[in-house]
Amino acid sequence: MTRSDDLFAHAQTLMPGGVNSPVRAFGSVGGTPRFMVSAKGAYLTDADGKDYVDLVCSWGPALLGHAHPAVLDAVHAAVDRGLSFGASTPDEARLAELVKERVSAVERLRMVSTGTEATMTAVRLARGFTGRNLIVKFAGCYHGHLDGLLAAAGSGLATMALPGSAGVTEAAAAETLVLPYNDLDAVEAAFSAHGEHIAAVITEAAPANMGVVTPGEGFNAALSRITREHGALLILDEVLTGFRTGYAGYWGLTGATEGWTPDLLTFGKVIGGGMPTAALGGRADVMDYLAPLGPVYQAGTLSGNPVAMAAGVATLTHATPEVYSFVDGRSLELSAALSSALDAAGVDHSIQRAGNLFSVAFGTSANGVHNYAEAQAQDVFRYAPFFHSMLDSGVYLPPSVFEAWFLSAAHDDAAMNRIFDALPAAAKAAAQA
Ligand code: PMP
Repeated sequence: MTRSDDLFAHAQTLMPGGVNSPVRAFGSVGGTPRFMVSAKGAYLTDADGKDYVDLVCSWGPALLGHAHPAVLDAVHAAVDRGLSFGASTPDEARLAELVKERVSAVERLRMVSTGTEATMTAVRLARGFTGRNLIVKFAGCYHGHLDGLLAAAGSGLATMALPGSAGVTEAAAAETLVLPYNDLDAVEAAFSAHGEHIAAVITEAAPANMGVVTPGEGFNAALSRITREHGALLILDEVLTGFRTGYAGYWGLTGATEGWTPDLLTFGKVIGGGMPTAALGGRADVMDYLAPLGPVYQAGTLSGNPVAMAAGVATLTHATPEVYSFVDGRSLELSAALSSALDAAGVDHSIQRAGNLFSVAFGTSANGVHNYAEAQAQDVFRYAPFFHSMLDSGVYLPPSVFEAWFLSAAHDDAAMNRIFDALPAAAKAAAQA
């Protein structure tokens, strides 16, 4: 029995599945989840004292590496001034200013505590602003666990969705249209059928919750055009991609140069540097529909929390263009090494990429993965043995094939070499599955 075995057994008597977020339970890869006690740079240390090169990075926030000294200093200084005041603080505007300087599509910003809250508020705001009810989302895109977006595709492309989780009412799902990703014909058809009732299209700037899927050339731009033509809004969900795929997020890599602008954007993860902060922002006329100026209600006891703001300001201040070039380079090196190890072991695969985010999909080399149906059709069974071989070699991968791999500015040569050394055995394990 390891200490993680003990801790997991105990946790299961106290919390559903022993966890506070489902993917942590290792449900799709099996085995005992490792309980972590500390993190520094590119490494996590578990309760048994074993360290791992971390390719999850807290699911995105740890862009600078864990426990970056400047972020810790800022947090320590904020903690010394008190944990929460229930009033406005100077750092809220500082963080909003940093976001606005980087992402010109953001004219106003509101801080919330989680990505779910950011998208939930964006959806309510879009409905309040347009006076319409329907929301279009894409199958396989995740926007947090708000009821209306935990929806699964209905029987036809332009029909209302079905509940995607127990506890979601048919009524909540019926106000969502779920379309196949990368399919503009489906978007046009939905707007032809329901255009005057659609408040917004919400999409991940680049999907990374069905594994990574690259938005087809011009896809996001077309969403912007179609929503505009029909008086609907485009909500670009950058909770995962924002300030990770580039200095101005994924929109900065694409939309800013292609000449289209989302009406609203949502952020999370990197914006809080590991503390619970998220945000939504966008057009001033839409954002000003939020209370106290406008009729759309939204609030939060811990919104703009001073410790979280300090972590966010320090993180964005240190997330320089050099950090992004470094992480981009590491991502290319690692995905190339992964692909050659799998080739050498004869494992059919594709590397799925959007900016510096990537994931592997097994059995998909012929066409790659462009949507949720293709993501689900891959050889999922190859991932568990691959994952466990890497874990045994001291590399912590996302415990699901449907997640992106995350790198950081702290992934130095020693960390990368440990990963490279581990890949051939893991690729063999995947081949034998
Ligand atoms: N949107 C996207 C694109 C996400 O990846 C996530 C979380 N992985 C969320 C929203 C929800 O964020 P949170 O977990 O902070 O509620």
